[in-house]
Amino acid sequence: MPSKEWSVQCVCDEIIVISEKLRNSIVDHQTAPAPFPPSLWRESVKSEDGISTLDLSCNNCDKEIEYRWNAVIMENPHTKKRDMQDTKTGHVGLFKDEWEETMYVTPNSWVKGKRTVHKVKIVKRPRKSRHSNSLQDIMQRWTMGHSLYYIQFALAGIEGVIDPKEMNLLKQRMKENKVLQDGLGNEGYHDEEKRFIDAEIYYNEAVKHGKAEVVRILRDYLTRVAESHNWEKMILSLLYTQIFDIAMADGEIWSGEVEVLQMIVDEWGLDIGIPLLKGMTDASGRGI
Ligand SMILES: [Zn+2]
Repeated sequence: MPSKEWSVQCVCDEIIVISEKLRNSIVDHQTAPAPFPPSLWRESVKSEDGISTLDLSCNNCDKEIEYRWNAVIMENPHTKKRDMQDTKTGHVGLFKDEWEETMYVTPNSWVKGKRTVHKVKIVKRPRKSRHSNSLQDIMQRWTMGHSLYYIQFALAGIEGVIDPKEMNLLKQRMKENKVLQDGLGNEGYHDEEKRFIDAEIYYNEAVKHGKAEVVRILRDYLTRVAESHNWEKMILSLLYTQIFDIAMADGEIWSGEVEVLQMIVDEWGLDIGIPLLKGMTDASGRGI
C-alpha cells in the first residue's frame, strides 16, 4: 500500500507531514554526489509550488528545520566530519553550537505515512532571518562566495559609487554566471542573495575608510580565493575572465578598473590577463 506522504516528529512532538514528492526532493538534494571542484553549490529544493525555495518549519513550535546539504550533510572543512549526524529514524535532529540550536533532518529522518496528525503543512513564508547585519556577524559567516562578491564590488566601485543600474546588472550577472557560481563556497550559508547583501554591506563599510582600505581588503580576498582554488591557474583564469566580463558589461572600461584587473592578474600570477587589456581605450578618453 504505497503512501503518498512522509512524516517526521519535531522535538516539540508535532508530527510534520510532507508529500512524497517533496520528501524525495529533499533526499535527492541531500544524497546527490558532491559537486566537484571546488564547488559546494547545488540546486536548492523547491517548495510544492516549484518556484520558491523550500522553507521547512514546524507548525507548532514555529522553528525552522534545516535540510540543506551544505548545512546538514557536507563535512565540516576543518574537522573533516559532519557536524550533524543522522537523526533517529522518524525524528528531527537537534544540533547545538555556541551560537544557536538547529533542528535538522537527514534522509533517514522521514518515515512513510503520517502518524498522529493534527495540523500539518509546509509553511510558506520568508525564511526568518537568524542573521543580523552587524559587521561582526557578517564576518562570522563570511565565505569564499562573499569574497568573490567583494572583489566584484571593488572592481565596479573603484571609480566612485556603484550606481544602482550597475549594481543590478552585477547582481544579475553574478546569478547567471555559472563559473563564478561554481566557485562560490557555501560553508554552511547558502542564501545567495543574503550573501550578496552581506558583501555589499561590508564593501560599503570599507569604502568609508577610503580606497586604500578597499584595496587592502581586496588583496587579502584575492589571495584567499586563490588559496581556496589551490592556485589552480585554469580555474583562476576562468574566474578572471568572468570578472573581466562583468567589468565590461557596461561596454566601457575605466582606468581604475584596469588597475584592479591588473592587480588580479598579478596577484593570481596569470598570464592571460594582459593581452586582453591591450589596445583598450579608457572610457574617460585616457590611454591605458
Ligand atoms: Zn515543533
